Amino acid sequence: MIKHRFYRHLIVIIILSSSSSFHFAFSQELKERTKSVRLGDQTVYLKIFEKPGKDIVFAHVHENEVAALEAGKQILAKHGGRLVTLMHSSDGTKNRNVTFTHAKTTYQFDPNRIYSVDDKVLFKTIRIIKGNGKVDQNVIDIVKNLATQIWGEMHDLPYIVAIHNNKNTPAEVKTKWLFLHRLEPESYSVNSYIKSFDQSGESNKSCSDIYINPMVNNSEFFIVTERNDFKMLSEKRYTVVLQNDNPVDDGSMSVYAYRKGKRYVNAEAKMGRVKEQIEMLEILLK
Ligand SMILES: [Zn+2]
Repeated sequence: MIKHRFYRHLIVIIILSSSSSFHFAFSQELKERTKSVRLGDQTVYLKIFEKPGKDIVFAHVHENEVAALEAGKQILAKHGGRLVTLMHSSDGTKNRNVTFTHAKTTYQFDPNRIYSVDDKVLFKTIRIIKGNGKVDQNVIDIVKNLATQIWGEMHDLPYIVAIHNNKNTPAEVKTKWLFLHRLEPESYSVNSYIKSFDQSGESNKSCSDIYINPMVNNSEFFIVTERNDFKMLSEKRYTVVLQNDNPVDDGSMSVYAYRKGKRYVNAEAKMGRVKEQIEMLEILLK
């Protein structure tokens, strides 16, 4: 009888150990709810996943960064906490920027550039794609409400971990039409934080310290707002950027979180690198 039970347990362990079942078994325990937010003529959705465990909230605002979402869900299933993700494309595609219409005009914005108490920042963030309307107070309030709703799902927890993916492409000349060439600058990476060719970009102006492990690709790095986190990560030899105490207010969550006194870490990994991003998040949770 005892022997029989032992084998039954062994079979259960073997089933749980195969990777897909492993993920499935954990995912079952995530509680999920959806919050709809009106955005002009459209509705966007906040999906909130929760599991008892860590006092931590994972923020996923760029819908097309699917590796980050997958890594976040797996870490959440293992350690607990909360994950907030934004869903806004209705046509089956996944997009970085949010598009909405209001009074016959189509607007677009980056959902990581809308967190600011300064309306001028939002004014700069919102672009007109189509139509004769303008970015007036009405439009700013529509977008500000989304930021308030997202922040409202996070502010009660003391530790925010934003999860992002980047393209990691070098500078290249792109041909548009037959004779028109355009230089595409190198994409966002840890290099963006280094003052280069005597030019200070916004990222560089917001940066206090950088630690770079030369063995880690420039797409995988952390951005932190607290020196303790910078110390911990650099001691573990992981590439990390410390935001300074007077960062440029570009509407990004890192600047807003810092001003609200929140512990904030951004984990950046190249598109598609789920395994690497899980390893990064594990470092934070150790
Ligand atoms: Zn992102």
